[in-house]
Amino acid sequence: MGEFDLIARYFTRPVRSGGAVALGVGDDCALLAPRPGMHLAVSSDMLVEGRHFFADVDPRTLGHKALAVNLSDLAACGARPLAFTLALALPQADASWLQAFADGLFALADAHDCVLIGGDTTRGPLNLCITVFGEVPAGQALLRSGAQVGDDIWVSGTLGDARLALEALRGRIQLPASALARARQRLEQPTPRVQLGQRLRGIASSALDVSDGLLGDLGHILAASGAGAEIELAKTTELIAASALFTGPEAIFDMELMHQCTLAGGDDYELAFTAAPAQREAVQSAARQADVAVTRIGRITATPGLRLLDAQGQPQPAAYASFDHFA
Ligand code: ADP
Ligand code: MG
Repeated sequence: MGEFDLIARYFTRPVRSGGAVALGVGDDCALLAPRPGMHLAVSSDMLVEGRHFFADVDPRTLGHKALAVNLSDLAACGARPLAFTLALALPQADASWLQAFADGLFALADAHDCVLIGGDTTRGPLNLCITVFGEVPAGQALLRSGAQVGDDIWVSGTLGDARLALEALRGRIQLPASALARARQRLEQPTPRVQLGQRLRGIASSALDVSDGLLGDLGHILAASGAGAEIELAKTTELIAASALFTGPEAIFDMELMHQCTLAGGDDYELAFTAAPAQREAVQSAARQADVAVTRIGRITATPGLRLLDAQGQPQPAAYASFDHFA
């Protein structure tokens, strides 16, 4: 199978007319037609074998995750997905691998009405780069820079499962098989909070998606907003306590591991955001409509830096580094 057969067979599908995509795969450029008054939200994420996924990963889940991590960036900005491009380096054109990869990719793309409009295909070590395009009403994108002193800090869903799965797959901890299966689902098939992000427009003052670990990512909001934060450990513990791994007969009660995974785990793809206390009801209602739980974990302070507080409100040492490819 040649390069052009491969693109035609696996990555070219008819484009519905009347949407934002004026021209899809097949020409030198694709054409997007954003509606008047809208900004295009654009983001790229690259997945590299050995760094972001194991060589033997199920190609179906890889297709899902490659797009999910990009949709998560659109969610963080409150944007609605429109389209994406796919740049792909493959060691060989393996038909069953490509079919499974495309199935995983398009299942998630179709669920969000996000159209593959182009890309590039080359031979090389397995490497995937997706660029997503979304739309957001001009001036209404959620940014990292809007947090105000006194705002609540919120997190969607649960944190830490992906990191636990990774630790288990690397052989550093032991998990019961059924618990590992649930954690692996979160690692390999994260759910981008696309609905929640859009519903938080006009409610949240700042937002980002948690990809490298909660504390490190919150640090980006604090730096961009010129503020500090207090985080209640009792609340972040609830986040992981609610996760699949820490309930039921197989519950794990290693508090140090729980904090490590929740606060610095990475690969969660949940939203962390801030909102004024007057918006608590609005936040909860947005979360209900988006069908995801949200938890209030702390507040924005004028004092710079990030402080962890125990159940008595006493500061705790925070030695949880988040993920940094070059650290
Ligand atoms: P060019 O030579 O202009 O770079 P290519 O020959 O690489 O174009 O690609 C031909 C067409 O197929 C283009 O429209 C391109 O966007 C599309 N394309 C290439 N690879 C992919 C892919 N992996 N997924 C979707 N579309 C692709
Ligand atoms: Mg090309």
